[in-house]
Amino acid sequence: MSALSPVLKQATQVLAVRGEGVHLYDESGRAHLDFTAGIGVTSTGHCHPRVVAAAQEQVGKLVHGQYTTVMHQPLLTLTERLGEVLPAGIDSLFYVNSGSEAVEAAMRLAKQATGRPNIVAFQGGFHGRTMAAASMTTSATKFRSGYGPLMPGVALAPFPNAFHYGWDEETATRFALRELDQLLATVTAPADTAAFIVEPVLGEGGYVPANTAFLQGLRERADRHGILLILDEVQTGFGRTGKFWGHDHFGGRPDIVVTAKGLASGFPLSAIAAPEALMAKAWPGSQGGTYGGNAVACAAAIATLDVIQDEKLVENAATRGGQLFTGLREVAAKHAAGAGRAGIGDVRGLGLMAGTEFTGADGEPDGATAAKVHAAAGERGLLLLTCGTQGQVVRMIPPLVVSEAEVAEGLRLWEESVDAVLG
Ligand code: PMP
Repeated sequence: MSALSPVLKQATQVLAVRGEGVHLYDESGRAHLDFTAGIGVTSTGHCHPRVVAAAQEQVGKLVHGQYTTVMHQPLLTLTERLGEVLPAGIDSLFYVNSGSEAVEAAMRLAKQATGRPNIVAFQGGFHGRTMAAASMTTSATKFRSGYGPLMPGVALAPFPNAFHYGWDEETATRFALRELDQLLATVTAPADTAAFIVEPVLGEGGYVPANTAFLQGLRERADRHGILLILDEVQTGFGRTGKFWGHDHFGGRPDIVVTAKGLASGFPLSAIAAPEALMAKAWPGSQGGTYGGNAVACAAAIATLDVIQDEKLVENAATRGGQLFTGLREVAAKHAAGAGRAGIGDVRGLGLMAGTEFTGADGEPDGATAAKVHAAAGERGLLLLTCGTQGQVVRMIPPLVVSEAEVAEGLRLWEESVDAVLG
């Protein structure tokens, strides 16, 4: 008898048989409030009827329109439609299947376009599990350990992680930019540096938003040195943060945008986007893949864009995010860490990307308590995820269709769970 490999580490014990909106149903028929959205993927909710209908219709017409062999209409239509939401001047797209693959595609493009070998990534960043993406990933050693050496030529600079350093945001940002300048002066010269790659909100690394001074500081340095700015919007894109792109909160115009997750409501699809003149520097044929730009995934992505637009999901993410943060801060105030007491140290994020960081009595990141609260929520039917370099942050990323009543219910279960663990 065969079984799944024990390498799989699962956040919950739920066997999901059906999903609808913000709920997952297990084999006993029990409803679970899904504030994970499949790690930020099912933004339109599970099985949104318009996404299901678009995918079903496409399945009957053409499933695998292999794009290095033939072109298909969903890919062309999606490309046109994404032009309406991409940042100004970014008008050329290329598709693969996952966030990791898109990060690799962005890395290839940046190196080919600049002729430079090195990449600067930021501490705590997560960019994926494939070799190049893992080389730029430092949100936890489990993504890097045991199969090195990783891709050479990745230099790491600090992210302005104010809570981690125990500083205010301005100090953390000044430090991060000074260290970046130092890196460019001592480790990887600008003439050797193809790109900076950064998340507008550090995701797996603990839900830490960047800020305007930091992203604009990166933009300014990129312009000064001819370095490309890659924004990894895999988790922050498609309305997740209450604006269409995470970087819409901060400015810091990207040269290359990496997107996946919320793009196709659960169908495997990812993309890189850049100005045509930059994409033209990629070596023809050097990007691709058997399954890239799958016709059904593209049809689902077009329907996803329709739903985001028609149901005003970006606005909903901002409004419901406000409600969520108000509630999370109330719970945090009740259980504040400090003066030798373990509890909640910080509440952070943007829109419907909300993290609560647990801090031990010693003032250090408290992954053990976060794990207990995560489990307590799961027992109550509230599905959550953890993140942070020590697993010390419990995060909520509900589908963007979440209603006022569902946020209120999530907050009620959250308060109960935190009360149960912290007393
Ligand atoms: N970049 C970011 C910011 C992510 O959050 C993730 C996935 N959590 C990835 C890249 C990798 O995406 P995938 O798992 O689809 O390869």
